[in-house]
Amino acid sequence: MISAVREVSVFGDAIAYFNEAAALLDLDPGIRRLLTKPSRQIIFAIPFTRDNGEMEVFTGYRVQYNFARGPAKGGIRFHPGVTLDEVTALAFWMTWKCAVVDLPFGGGKGGVTCDPTTLSKGELERITRRYAAELVEVVGPDKDVPAPDVGTTAQIMAWFMDTYSMHVREHVPGVVTGKPLEIGGSKGRVEATGRGVSLVALAQMHRMGIGTKGAKIVVQGFGNVGSIAAKLFVDAGCTVIAISDVTGAYYNERGIDVAGAIAYAQEHASLDGYRGGERITNEALLELPCDVLVPAALEKQLTIANAADVSAKLIVEGANGPTTPEADHIFAQRGIVVIPDILANAGGVTVSYFEWAQDRAGYFWKESEVNERLADVMLEHYGAVVELAQLRDIPLRTAAYMLAIDRVVTSMRLRGVYA
Ligand code: NAD
Repeated sequence: MISAVREVSVFGDAIAYFNEAAALLDLDPGIRRLLTKPSRQIIFAIPFTRDNGEMEVFTGYRVQYNFARGPAKGGIRFHPGVTLDEVTALAFWMTWKCAVVDLPFGGGKGGVTCDPTTLSKGELERITRRYAAELVEVVGPDKDVPAPDVGTTAQIMAWFMDTYSMHVREHVPGVVTGKPLEIGGSKGRVEATGRGVSLVALAQMHRMGIGTKGAKIVVQGFGNVGSIAAKLFVDAGCTVIAISDVTGAYYNERGIDVAGAIAYAQEHASLDGYRGGERITNEALLELPCDVLVPAALEKQLTIANAADVSAKLIVEGANGPTTPEADHIFAQRGIVVIPDILANAGGVTVSYFEWAQDRAGYFWKESEVNERLADVMLEHYGAVVELAQLRDIPLRTAAYMLAIDRVVTSMRLRGVYA
C-alpha cells in the first residue's frame, strides 16, 4: 500500500514560485491574474468492476492549465494522494516546463485517486478505459496529449490510446505519448527524463568544478526517473552512494550497484529487502553529505523541517515540486544550487514532443537521433537559464520561470485574449 500524505496546498507553493519570477517581469496585471487560474478543471466519477464482480467508484481528474502555446501536455498520475489541488499544480508546472524548453505545448495533468499497487491488471485496464472514455471530447493530438507519470506505464498509455481510437473510429497514436514502441512510441522515451536530469546535472557539476569521477550522488525515488538517472550517473563515472523508494533507503559508501538494484526492483516490484546497502530512513537519505542530491519521488520532500540539514552542493529536481519555497530560500542562503524541476525533468516531455511529432509524420527516428536531439534541447535551454541567472544575479529557478513566463505571455499577446 502507498501512503497518502498531503497537508498544505501544492498549487499554493507553485504559485509562490511564479509570483517571484512574475515580479521581475513587467507583466500586465490582467495577464498575471489569468496565468494564476487554470483554463479548465474536470472532475469525474470512474465506476469500474472489481475482479470479484463488485462495482467500485474512484475519482478522476484532468486539468488543462494553459493553451497559449499549443495543446495541453502532461502526464496521468495513479496514486492515493491525487487531489484536484495536486493535479492543478502539476498542470501549472507543465505549462512552464514546456515553455522553458520551447516546446509547442501548453500545460496539463491528470490523475486518478487510487493505489495501483493494490489493483489487478484487469482492474487497471478497466479504470484506464473509463478514464479515457470520460475525456474523449477534450483530449486529442491538437487538444490535450497525456503521458505517463507516477503509477502509470506504457501499457496504460496503450489502453488509453486504444479507447480513444475506438471512440473516434480512427487510429490516433498521437493522443498520448509514452506508448510502447510497437504502437507508435518513441525510442528513448522511457529513459528521457532520467537522461535529461543527468545531462543538466553533469553540466552544472562541470560549472561548479565538481569532477564526475567519484562524485557522490544521492537519489530519492527509484522509479522511472530516479533509477535511470542513477544508472546514467554511474555510466558517467560518479558514485551513487544512496537510493530509496517508498519502502525505504539504502546507503553504500563504496557505491550502490545500480544495475543490480534496478534488476532487484524489477523482480520484486520495489527495493524492499534489497541487500546492496545499509538500510536507512528516507529522511536520513535526504541529509547525507554528497555532491548531488536528486529528489525523484514526489512533491514536498525538501521543506523547512529538513532544509538546514541537507548537505548536498547541488540539488537536481527530478521530481515535480520536491522543494517548498521556504526550503528553496534556505538553500539559496546556504549557497546550495538548485536546478529546478521545470528545467531538470523536462527531458521526458521533450521526447514526448518527439513522439507526438513522429506519430503525426508516421516516420520514426533512430534512438541515437532522439538522444542527440534531446541533449541539444536540454543543454541549449539549460545554458539560457544559467546565462539569465548570472545576468540578473538570481537563482536558476527564478531565471527558468522568467524565460518560460515570457514565452507564454508573448504567445498570449500575439493571439490576444478573447475576453
Ligand atoms: P514512478 O512511479 O516510476 O516512481 C516513483 C518512485 O518514487 C518509486 O520508486 C516510489 O517507490 C518512490 N517514492 C514514492 N514515495 C516516496 C517516498 N516518500 N520516499 C522515497 N521514495 C518514494 O514515477 P516517476 O515517473 O519516476 O516520477 C517521479 C517524479 O518525477 C514525479 O514527481 C513525477 O511527476 C516526475 N516526473 C516524471 C516524468 C516521467 O517521464 N516519468 C517526467 C517529469 C517528471
